[in-house]
Amino acid sequence: MDTAVRKVKGQCRCGQVKFEVTSEPLITMACHCVGCQKITASALFPNATFLL
Ligand SMILES: [Zn+2]
Repeated sequence: MDTAVRKVKGQCRCGQVKFEVTSEPLITMACHCVGCQKITASALFPNATFLL
């Protein structure tokens, strides 16, 4: 069984806001809206929501 603490790092698009979390995400999803397609230059934008 893996008991290592996993650290997830993230930031906003411009990099002004950065964060690290060690909790598991509340939800993960992939958004297909046009805004997310433009941001990622792909068909979808995978993301996760964490309780901070
Ligand atoms: Zn979206």
